[in-house]
Amino acid sequence: GPALVWFRDDHRLSDNPALSAAVDSGAPLLCLYILDESSQGVRPLGGAARWWLHGSLDALDRSLRELGNRLVIFQGPAEEVVDRLVETTNPSGVYWNRRYQAAEIAVDRAIKARLTARGIAVRSFNGRLLHEPWQVRNRAGRPFQVFTPYLRAVSAMPVAPPLPRPREIRAGGWPSSLLDSSRSLADLRLEPENPNWAAPFTGLWQRGEQAAQERLSTFLEEGLPGYASRRDVPAAEATSRLSPHLRFGEIGPRQIWHAATARADGRETDTAKFLSEVVWRDFCHQQLHDNPDLATAPCNPRFAHFRWAGDNAALEAWRRGLTGYPIVDAGMRQLWRTGWMHNRVRMIVASFLVKHLLTDWRQGEAWFWDTLLDADAANNAFNWQWVAGSGPDSAPFHRIFNPVSQGEKFDPDGAYVRAYVPELADLPSPFVHRPWDAPGDVLRRAGIAPGENYPRPIVDHGAARERALGAFRALRDAQ
Ligand code: FAD
Repeated sequence: GPALVWFRDDHRLSDNPALSAAVDSGAPLLCLYILDESSQGVRPLGGAARWWLHGSLDALDRSLRELGNRLVIFQGPAEEVVDRLVETTNPSGVYWNRRYQAAEIAVDRAIKARLTARGIAVRSFNGRLLHEPWQVRNRAGRPFQVFTPYLRAVSAMPVAPPLPRPREIRAGGWPSSLLDSSRSLADLRLEPENPNWAAPFTGLWQRGEQAAQERLSTFLEEGLPGYASRRDVPAAEATSRLSPHLRFGEIGPRQIWHAATARADGRETDTAKFLSEVVWRDFCHQQLHDNPDLATAPCNPRFAHFRWAGDNAALEAWRRGLTGYPIVDAGMRQLWRTGWMHNRVRMIVASFLVKHLLTDWRQGEAWFWDTLLDADAANNAFNWQWVAGSGPDSAPFHRIFNPVSQGEKFDPDGAYVRAYVPELADLPSPFVHRPWDAPGDVLRRAGIAPGENYPRPIVDHGAARERALGAFRALRDAQ
């Protein structure tokens, strides 16, 4: 029978170790994708990620067809799907790249046990990370809880060179009836209709492996020089925007590592900073691997008793970008409109939700999960806990971002705010992050009627800060 390659968030042909090993086995390949939203504990994808997934699978199928194969799609619990496929095709071997979430690991273990019992070899690989969670350990053999020593440790570890793209991917070895029971991509209904809220994304993003490679090249050419200093300026668009491509494995971190390192001459600082962000991604995956409940339970158990005060109206204002704090509103609207938000602004809006609105970070995590194209189980949950102060190596809770000074520091001329909050486009720079301080005639000339066409701040910064600190003190004193 054929070699079965099961694609899972590794939607690429180059540097795909499971695919390469299956090709090297000499058998024809059955290339499989399973949309599994029903296995126990598997979290269904959010809306934006589903849109990306559609294009990602479409691109993968096209690339496979160019090399003489195709993608076969099924839907349902993975264990049942694989069982059925094994019955009908009697594969010579099963190949996949590993996953790191508890629910998915459980699925993979169960499948592997059944296949092994039938005498079918399963071969699994690292296709997702620079280094897998268990490879990076401190001197005591324990996982690192703090990023800096983790980064130092991995800096000394070699990164395997990326594998070339196979030249041919032979198909066949399965009965033709197999395709009758498979699904078409359209059957999965991953893209929204009525309304098609994702329509604007089409002009902003190209999905798939080739687009990921092009984005990497463009970034190394244009974005990397100056990255270390410009990465915090949201209007500069100085970061790679590779995150959705990485999320779906359209590019692998080893490819990024080697491409960036090869061009590091003369821009060592920028390259080191950029690659340290890619290492953060590995670190988040390690944390998720070691804390399966990262998205639902505070790692620091003390925070389980935190007294959240947030109300639904405030949460809704935050979601819609109507808090009255321009940098927060710009970020939330960038997210809604483009499916992505700049990292500095993610930190500001997250801090605002948790601290100024005293809202449970899990509400924010869930909103990001639904609206981010790069929504990632490890990166999203870890970063929310980081902001909320409950994760390992987190920002301390009492460090509370002032949304006005953050805006003035990182968006000094208000270009970012103006791009996403058009109501404020004509407000002169000194007031663009604090419209409430603008004199009446300035507001009038800029066409702003506070409380009518742009909200007054929904909370007062000073009072909100005191309330958050009070809640944190109460938590500390209670223990
Ligand atoms: P670059 O600056 O070009 O970085 C390159 C790559 O490094 C990124 O694509 C990403 O894979 C990785 N990276 C960068 N920063 C981080 C970080 N802080 N943590 C982990 N990996 C990082 N990132 C996601 O990929 N998915 C998420 O769901 C997600 N949720 C977040 C939620 C919050 C509250 C915060 C504060 C951050 C979150 N991030 C998330 C991390 C970060 O904001 C994005 O990875 C980054 O903005 C993506 O843009 P980029 O590709 O241009 O980044």
